Amino acid sequence: MSAHVSDVKVFIRTRPTANFAKDLIQYLPDGQTVNIHLRKGSRKRVVNNQLCSWSFRMDRVFHDVSQEEIYASVAHSVVLGALDGYNGNIMCFGQTGAGKTYTMTGATKNYKERGIIPRALQEVFREVEKRTNHAISVYLSFLEIYNETLVDLLSSVPLEESAALGGMSIVEEAGGGVFVRGLSLHQVHSEEEALNLLFEGDMNRIIGAHTLNRNSSRSHCILSIHIESRSRTLSEAKYLTSKLSLVDLAGSERLGKTGSEGQLLKEATYINKSLSFLEQAILALADRRREHVPFRQSKLTHALKDCLGGNCNTVLMANIYGEAAQIEETVRVAMYSQKECLC
Ligand code: ADP
Ligand code: MG
Repeated sequence: MSAHVSDVKVFIRTRPTANFAKDLIQYLPDGQTVNIHLRKGSRKRVVNNQLCSWSFRMDRVFHDVSQEEIYASVAHSVVLGALDGYNGNIMCFGQTGAGKTYTMTGATKNYKERGIIPRALQEVFREVEKRTNHAISVYLSFLEIYNETLVDLLSSVPLEESAALGGMSIVEEAGGGVFVRGLSLHQVHSEEEALNLLFEGDMNRIIGAHTLNRNSSRSHCILSIHIESRSRTLSEAKYLTSKLSLVDLAGSERLGKTGSEGQLLKEATYINKSLSFLEQAILALADRRREHVPFRQSKLTHALKDCLGGNCNTVLMANIYGEAAQIEETVRVAMYSQKECLC
């Protein structure tokens, strides 16, 4: 985003590759800047045979960084904030295959490769045990948005039936909160219980995609951790409630004109629209003209309304490929996410 996006933290992460295009992508030693070049002869944007170069400034850039370090740098403070009553929102953005799901969920079989969601759940329950002065309840919901249709990934009703029933809607509360009517909310008492639900939701996403003939990279997924906390020592204390949304966005790639018809075209149109409204919402956080933000124009921004700005810690992670073949999409993703364009 070309304006100074002050209330959103933005990061970039490259997927590791043996063919890293080091002549096209350069991470500067300041840890905040990435320079990206399009070489002469690449298909577009070549002006008079010149090299096109951009310099993007982020809050931090990550190259060859472990899941543990990503969590510590990107998510840890947002999770603690949620336990203190601040809404949080961590979103992964980028082309299909660039590492969004790896960053968010990670390789669940390998403990070291767990992503932000399982680590956040672990930290939440560690904090619940530590904060003995507070009675803290934790609930999970798992929402998928496909072509502007809401799907409950933790519903007890089979997905085909609930998809056919529809019936979910996004409702705004008087206090500024937003909730999805009809979306199931599950109380969890331990990390293990939470991880089981996460697994169930991920399976439902895969099964749903299969049975309903959808490509799962074409939907947005929002895992929300709802936290309710009440002081055990102050008898008059009110409940503090907060919501931490962990979002695996649909692939941001532009489809070529050929082949974009029927279902593919429909999916691409919905995704482009929702990602463009999300961009507007994030940009608006910077200049505080929230009344002009078209939150309700897409289910994604509407569902995230209370997790975008205001009393909220918002993080946008751009996942990019390191290969030359993807460089044009990489520039687009970096442009969407940048803190400041220095070109
Ligand atoms: P996306 O969700 O953006 O479509 P994935 O997260 O599924 O992409 O990543 C595509 C593949 O690359 C997966 O096999 C994933 O395990 C691997 N991958 C992505 N990022 C990393 C990383 N930082 N380290 C190791 N493997 C990664
Ligand atoms: Mg994915």
